[in-house]
Amino acid sequence: MTASNSDIEKAADVLRAGGLVALPTETVYGLGADAENPAAVGRIFQVKGRPSNHPLIVHIGSAELLDDWVAEVSDTARLLAERFWPGPLTLVLPRGPRVPLEATGGLETVAVRVPAHPVARALLTAFGGGVTAPSANRFGSVSPTTADHVRTELGDAVDHVLDGGSCDVGVESTIVDVTGDTPSILRPGGVTREELEAALGRPLAVPGASPIRVPGQHPSHYAPRARVVLVEPGEVVAEAERAQDQGLRVGVFLPAALSGTPVKAHAVVEVPASAAAHARGLYGFLRELDEQGCDLIIASLPQEEGLGVAIANRLGRAAGPRPAGDDRS
Ligand code: AMP
Ligand code: MG
Repeated sequence: MTASNSDIEKAADVLRAGGLVALPTETVYGLGADAENPAAVGRIFQVKGRPSNHPLIVHIGSAELLDDWVAEVSDTARLLAERFWPGPLTLVLPRGPRVPLEATGGLETVAVRVPAHPVARALLTAFGGGVTAPSANRFGSVSPTTADHVRTELGDAVDHVLDGGSCDVGVESTIVDVTGDTPSILRPGGVTREELEAALGRPLAVPGASPIRVPGQHPSHYAPRARVVLVEPGEVVAEAERAQDQGLRVGVFLPAALSGTPVKAHAVVEVPASAAAHARGLYGFLRELDEQGCDLIIASLPQEEGLGVAIANRLGRAAGPRPAGDDRS
């Protein structure tokens, strides 16, 4: 189940040759390419169907290498890198000359992270360079948290898939803009606001205050084929039954507080009580309800604190208005 050394060497060769490698990270599986090879980076966008102005995250092997990839590291950035790397935190800093504009969507800033998964770390060590890697799924759909998810979704479009089991964190990294005086969260993720503020000893900018507006923050993202509707926790059962009675095949995210409650629905997932387990399972649950043929998923948001903020963000966007022409229901 976990990639062998020779498997990792082979994947490093694929990267050197300009190919694409799917790699496990602690957040989700990434679709990786040599960050310094614009043609290889271009293939990522092609395979994902991702607009070319959506910047990618550059994954590097250790915090000591940060200066090789960015033009300038503030004290705040240094502190956060030392405290949270390897781990699910991405720092946005001024772009260094090694990073091609193809990887940053044309921006003069670059997003960098050191992943914690042992297979990702081994690959980065064997390869020696930086690996740009967005989630290994088609643009807009649910991120993969197992190697099977990647194989099912991308098949032969990937040159090599490294298997590292299922992802521990389950949602993407927290992205923090550290280019200004007050760091601000651009995307909530595996490291919580509370943890960041405790490490810094001061508050982060209020959500949404950052002047940075980056592409890649669309209202619909992380979306399964089934439509997702969010309701209050206490209304989940009644809403599900109402839709099921109308002839829809309803999938339910049953809140932990209602565990064991019988629900008239096509399929039911019991949401784990801990936020960590909820995050870990989230994308797998969405895929599972799609596989069971659900037309509609009824869910509720967790408490918006700690990891619950990232979960609520992903569920909110899974439920977001779908773009015109989206062939999903
Ligand atoms: P992902 O979509 O998981 O591949 O993560 C990439 C996301 O990171 C992008 O969609 C942006 O929202 C964000 N990002 C990447 N690079 C930058 C950057 N240079 N400045 C601001 N945000 C960035
Ligand atoms: Mg993604």
